[in-house]
Amino acid sequence: TMQYPDWIWHNGRIKPWAEATTHVMSHALHYGSSVFEGIRSYETPNGPAIFRLTDHNRRLFASAKIYEMAMPYSLEQINAACREVIKANGLTRAYLRPLAYRGLGGFGLSAETPTDVAVAAWKMGAYLGDGVLEEGIDACVSSWQRFAPNTIPAGAKAGGNYLSGQLVAREARRLGFGEGIALASTGLLSEGAGENLFLVFDGALHTTPVSAALLNGITRNTLMTLARDAGIPVIERDIPREYLYLCDELFMCGTAAEITPIRSVDGRPVGTGKPGPLTRRMQELFFGLFDGRTPDRYGWLEYVG
Ligand code: PMP
Repeated sequence: TMQYPDWIWHNGRIKPWAEATTHVMSHALHYGSSVFEGIRSYETPNGPAIFRLTDHNRRLFASAKIYEMAMPYSLEQINAACREVIKANGLTRAYLRPLAYRGLGGFGLSAETPTDVAVAAWKMGAYLGDGVLEEGIDACVSSWQRFAPNTIPAGAKAGGNYLSGQLVAREARRLGFGEGIALASTGLLSEGAGENLFLVFDGALHTTPVSAALLNGITRNTLMTLARDAGIPVIERDIPREYLYLCDELFMCGTAAEITPIRSVDGRPVGTGKPGPLTRRMQELFFGLFDGRTPDRYGWLEYVG
């Protein structure tokens, strides 16, 4: 079971974890009307830093905009709240969860409810289990598809989207797999339950495009940038399912999953069945940001201070 941290930021102030409650008739609880972020902080040689804090919170505001959800705090205030929860709980390597949701104030779908905002943070290691970053996971293609374009917008990181993610992740775990991969309504590859996908062919990285009903991941963007800077070709393109079985290497990426190698899909080994050289290289470049081996050329490390 989870060890709860002591403090949480809720509607403008830090309060004890147990006091950060909401009414059972809050709009979000009934209709999935929340937007959120998942952000990590790391210990670095210059102290704890929150990785791409501003980019994550910009995406929070973008998600709110899509749903016409009024944000009662500025980007700067949410950034400050993130720093405050890390400090108050004495955290270094942690996961942060900013959340904005329609609260109590009406039961109609278009009710103008107040937006409540919280920021939690807790200690977190590898999301998909111990040792997975080194050994990789066994994945399966889900029987559940991602939502179609112009149904639920995949470009928003909204609570309701994660009904789809739960179906994909729970089915995979029930069948004994480490994670599930979903196809888009087109039948082409989309993404993992909570992770974007990269396939390796002949030393190049291939990743699925945002038109495949996926979240425009910040880790995905980070890896595309690091790869291009290192002279590694990156190709964004439609990918049919069978290429999962044919690629040289395959990995998932996301804030929680970081860079998790995939060693098999639907029982077929990926490449040699072990994390490959380009996957390792991307892990080195990515984790190098936090120990200084990879220069922080874009100001991605936002220090807790
Ligand atoms: N896709 C989905 C559905 C996700 O939930 C996440 C995690 N936020 C990602 C992709 C990866 O996004 P990011 O790298 O920004 O964490």
